[in-house]
Amino acid sequence: YVVSFGITLVAFSAVLYFVNARNQADDFDKFLYNRAQAIARSISINVQGEIEINQALIAESGKLFPFQFGNEYIEIRSPDGKTIARSKNMGSSSLPMDARIMGLLQSGKFAFLTLPASSQSVPFWSRGDLRIVSVPLFANNQLQILLQLGVSTHALDQSLGQLRNSLFLIGVPLTLLLAGAGGWWLAGRAFDPINRIILAAQQLGARRLDERLPVPEADDELGRLSKTLNEMLDRLESAFKSQERFVADASHELKTPITVLKGELEVLKSQPRSNEDYRAFLESASEELGRLTQIIENLLLLARADSGAPLRLDKSVRLDEVVLGVIGRLQSFASQSQVRLAMTIPEDAPEDALTVRGDPDLLASLFFNLIHNAVKYSAAGQAVEIRLDASPPSPGLGGRVIIRDRGTGISKEDLSHLFERFHRAENPSRSEVKGTGLGLAIARWIAEAHGAKITVESKPAEGSEFRVQFFARP
Ligand code: ADP
Repeated sequence: YVVSFGITLVAFSAVLYFVNARNQADDFDKFLYNRAQAIARSISINVQGEIEINQALIAESGKLFPFQFGNEYIEIRSPDGKTIARSKNMGSSSLPMDARIMGLLQSGKFAFLTLPASSQSVPFWSRGDLRIVSVPLFANNQLQILLQLGVSTHALDQSLGQLRNSLFLIGVPLTLLLAGAGGWWLAGRAFDPINRIILAAQQLGARRLDERLPVPEADDELGRLSKTLNEMLDRLESAFKSQERFVADASHELKTPITVLKGELEVLKSQPRSNEDYRAFLESASEELGRLTQIIENLLLLARADSGAPLRLDKSVRLDEVVLGVIGRLQSFASQSQVRLAMTIPEDAPEDALTVRGDPDLLASLFFNLIHNAVKYSAAGQAVEIRLDASPPSPGLGGRVIIRDRGTGISKEDLSHLFERFHRAENPSRSEVKGTGLGLAIARWIAEAHGAKITVESKPAEGSEFRVQFFARP
């Protein structure tokens, strides 16, 4: 900023200086010309042809000049160029005169000329340049005399030197210094809030995710930055907490069957047992191991969901085939629980309407969880209806699978947490019905991965209806 500002400032000052120098040089010439005219007016030639100079007039007009001319060198020539008189300070030397100047003067014009200090042609002069004006003097339309006036440009040089010094030695450095200091201060003020955000962010550790960054009052970029970072922290905190909860719940769920197994083993060891006791233990042990295996499988499935690894969901899958397969696998469990499974498929359904693109194993898992739940939370003698719907209620939608039971139902409070991991509703049969609370979380993930949506309607003691709505394939 200071460098670019400095370059601009120097360029601007240079332009200012050159314009000013030109004006001053013009003024200098104007005054020199006027001075020559004044001197010319003070000259009279008497009847003997002698030149007389009115000293008072010269002194008077000399006061009008802003430039202190110092020594003046005056030379008066006859119309043919011969020197008639010259000021004493010139000794016997002459001011330069050539044919070009003569021509100009004879035609009534005037001429300027600069003799550089180094010039040897005016031996009396050694300091600075000598600026010479030559003017003609007419009387009765007759060229009478030629007047030459030479003065030092020292005053002009001095004035320009002062301007140069004040611009480039004082003005530019001082302005740059002030601008630099001001810029430094402003930048410091502008970055101060960022520094505070950085410091605060550095102090936030993984264990202190509940802390937030200070949000500046002004609604500017910094305010929005802090707000955005805080929102990110919100998301991180909730992700971190749910991860923590998940790990805690998972270890608890895994520990329960092991504790049961260990307890039974201890009891079994304490004294000699009959074959029946051993058989009972082995059965219970294999049941607990089955539970463990199921939990671990579910956890692996969820870990796969969390990893975000791409799934291959490009197979053409018939929903009716998948659901029929699941019902077949659940048939013996349902008859043990004395629950009847009833499936309806619309007769005239176009094949296409019940076909989706996805992973048949994952889709089977989804319906297994839903139908398994419907059976688990039904009482003996009740029926679970599974209905496939091929006529979408509105365009853009595809096939639909509805699972209806008349079981325990789900309370309003539980409905909002139903799909959370390890959430198990406080329905009357909770203590009796075994489960992990992972099934619906997995079902929802599979549905979302397939672009489907699960909705549920349920009333305690009346039963539940789970609907899986697929979308039409583009
Ligand atoms: P679980 O292994 O406990 O069945 P889920 O994730 O499958 O775990 O279900 C979560 C909870 O939702 C269950 O514990 C149960 O309380 C409730 N639930 C799920 N499906 C039904 C249903 N069809 N009827 C009544 N309650 C249900």
